[in-house]
Amino acid sequence: MPSVLSSSRNIAILGGGAAGMSCALWLKHLGFSPVLIEPGTALGGQLLGIHRINRWILGIPGRTGSALAELYGRHVFDEAIDVRLDARLDSVMTEDSGFSLVVREGKHHCTASLLARALVIATGLRVNSSDILHPIPGALPLYESGLLSFFPLDHLEPMEALEGKRVAVIGGGDNAHFTVKDLAPRTALTHLIIRSRPRAQPMVRQEVEALIQQGRVQEHGGALITGFYQGSDAIAIALARNDSKAERIEVDRVFARTGFAPNTEFLVGLGPLAGLERNSDGYVRVDAWKRASLPFVYAVGDVASPDHPSVVTAIADGAVAAQAIVQDVGA
Ligand SMILES: Cc1cc2nc3c(=O)[nH]c(=O)nc-3n(C[C@H](O)[C@H](O)[C@H](O)COP(=O)(O)OP(=O)(O)OC[C@H]3O[C@@H](n4cnc5c(N)ncnc54)[C@H](O)[C@@H]3O)c2cc1C
Repeated sequence: MPSVLSSSRNIAILGGGAAGMSCALWLKHLGFSPVLIEPGTALGGQLLGIHRINRWILGIPGRTGSALAELYGRHVFDEAIDVRLDARLDSVMTEDSGFSLVVREGKHHCTASLLARALVIATGLRVNSSDILHPIPGALPLYESGLLSFFPLDHLEPMEALEGKRVAVIGGGDNAHFTVKDLAPRTALTHLIIRSRPRAQPMVRQEVEALIQQGRVQEHGGALITGFYQGSDAIAIALARNDSKAERIEVDRVFARTGFAPNTEFLVGLGPLAGLERNSDGYVRVDAWKRASLPFVYAVGDVASPDHPSVVTAIADGAVAAQAIVQDVGA
């Protein structure tokens, strides 16, 4: 039999990243009983995989993303907030008093029923690999062999291994430019392949332009990859340029930086949540109070913030939604 947790003060939060944790903390101190539902085995979300120093958090300098994840996670556990790790939402039904949820937990898939007054979606982003892996011939085998990778910090595999190699970075945004900056001093040559035009912040772009001037980076702008061909001692990348010229470059390693997609597909299977308004890229639409298009449903952090994905905005969103819940549900 599933266990049942019932309280008119329960608020279910989907996602244990910075946004979900912050919302849980605020809700707890505003008199609610937040329940954090996280499919991973640790709290932290994207932060868990970021080993670069985060310089953007006022008052907490010098910590890596993963150190912040640990700090935030410890805070949540110290506050005795109800956290369900390795847990997923199986079903949602609307009730007079809120939502009736079934949560599947642990490797034995035990189910727990939960009545929640409100639902907060804080499911963040994932790496978008769909532009590369399936449409481009040769991409999947390259990915499977480990020579093409996506996660933004995968080049932190020992950098010495890339010393003197030829590498390609795919993408035109900040992550592609940061990766180029990290790689160029070590590699024999770094290729930057951009489908349309560079979109990085001006300061980062200028630094990459300087590397292009020095001959450490070769940029291929307006270039569409038409195929990857894995030879015994090099990977050939075929490019179709928008001036109709074809080009072929040879490298040893490929780093794809093709952006992120919001984790919202799962909503489709979850009853009333399937009808939540999303924008054309799948981000949940919210108002200034982080209310989504259904009553008592809120969305916070990257999943609802295509323009400002960051730790501090995720934390702030969590606080705003908690205060909206006080307004809507009553203190
Ligand atoms: C390489 C990189 C570097 C970055 N550097 C910085 C930086 O220097 N400074 C900065 O401020 N920001 C940085 N960011 C962005 C920052 O990490 C994010 O904006 C922030 O962590 C987002 O938090 P979040 O809680 O909204 O989402 P996430 O961290 O994505 O958390 C979402 C959580 O939801 C869970 N989840 C997914 N699907 C479901 C589901 N169906 N049900 C329940 N839970 C689910 C996930 O497992 C995850 O734990 C960086 C991001 C990356 C990738």
